[in-house]
Amino acid sequence: MYDFVVVGAGLFGAVFAHEVKKAGKKVLVIEKRDHIGGNCYSYDDPETDINIHKYGPHIFHTPDKRIWNYINTFADFNNYQHRVLTTAGGKVYSLPINLATINQFYNLNLTPAEAAEFLKSKTSNIASPQNLEDKAVSLIGRELYEAFIKGYTIKQWNCDPVELPAEVITRLPVRTSYNDIYYHDNYQGMPVGGYEPIFEKLLENVPLELETDFFEKRDYWKSVAGTLVYTGPIDRYFDYRWGNLRWRSCRFEMERMSLNDYQGVSVMNYADRDVPYTRILEPKHFYRERAHLSRGTVIIREYPCDDPAQPYYPVRLKTDQEILAKYQEAQSREKDVVFGGRLAEYKYYDMWQVISRALEQAGKILQGRSSSGRTKSRQLLPAED
Ligand code: FAD
Ligand code: UDP
Repeated sequence: MYDFVVVGAGLFGAVFAHEVKKAGKKVLVIEKRDHIGGNCYSYDDPETDINIHKYGPHIFHTPDKRIWNYINTFADFNNYQHRVLTTAGGKVYSLPINLATINQFYNLNLTPAEAAEFLKSKTSNIASPQNLEDKAVSLIGRELYEAFIKGYTIKQWNCDPVELPAEVITRLPVRTSYNDIYYHDNYQGMPVGGYEPIFEKLLENVPLELETDFFEKRDYWKSVAGTLVYTGPIDRYFDYRWGNLRWRSCRFEMERMSLNDYQGVSVMNYADRDVPYTRILEPKHFYRERAHLSRGTVIIREYPCDDPAQPYYPVRLKTDQEILAKYQEAQSREKDVVFGGRLAEYKYYDMWQVISRALEQAGKILQGRSSSGRTKSRQLLPAED
């Protein structure tokens, strides 16, 4: 009998398992893939010695110093700051939309104050934008939206941007300065040895069964778990009783090249709809400190697609939200089960948010079980300094 059986060795499962193990609980992790790390998994390509993120590029970033301190106890990070370019109409522009993008696109030479006024003149007065398109047009105007957002978004999500939640686009800042760093967050970087060693450390001394699908012996796993921690898709857990939630996936096409540098940047987006991929990654640029050691380069083209076996992005259309509410209601009635992470919560979480949720959930449950009741979820985090 285990205090916890954790389904999924992704970030939520690994952090949760690590914390309860540290608190002296008996825990087992089962994972259906043949590796740990979930979608963060990365490995060194033996031919080029370049670290490849198997399920798409993962850049660690967070506004929360405590989460930054926490993850830094498992890895050293380099000082990579994410910068992205986009190709639209055959020209390369800076992204997220900033003063360089605006000046280049309109062939102007505006100052920050002038650019703010200029954008105001371009944006429609939409009182409270409820969808991605209205939100984007209210921030940058229709011309920039059509050039940089609309085509990419249709490719990424395979639906009309008016159907998507507004907050998808607020992930991207809009700036009237020349600051072209992709994320607002103060803390960002790439783990020096890739992501896999982080998971090795998180799961050190935690019993683990790979290539083990929870649903093949569902009753058994429940019978040996005091508490089940489920990090797979929520609709699957309830046997799709109220229908399938929409997920978007990606196909990655990897090519090794004998060139030293293919595109000069880690990520080049392709805004135009007639280019079938959304972006090309060149992962050696994530690790400038070891770039000279690699043999050639690797590029990866990312083609969004639907693939129920690889649920990556929760689409969250209105119908999904209605279905989700039913699953959440059922979930609240499940005894001794914790649902956590991107798939089980059907949330567009970044890594730091998943860590934060796992610490919060582990803290809560340990607090509930400790006789003194003094363990607070926040106490699982190191201090800010
Ligand atoms: P997952 O990583 O999906 O882990 C869940 C695990 O559960 C998986 O290993 C799965 O195999 C396992 N599992 C599921 N069902 C079963 C079952 N029945 N039995 C056993 N095991 C099961 N975040 C960032 O912060 N920065 C980025 O740059 C970034 N880029 C991303 C790019 C892409 C293409 C994607 C898809 C995501 C990106 N993310 C990024 C988000 C990041 O991947 C997630 O926040 C994080 O990996 C979620 O962790 P998780 O544990 O919730 O889910
Ligand atoms: N987006 C876009 N053009 C771009 C980059 C992003 O239209 O060049 C939109 C798109 O809808 C995307 C969203 O902004 O889904 C969020 O982008 P982000 O880079 O945060 O997506 P991620 O791949 O990290 O989830």
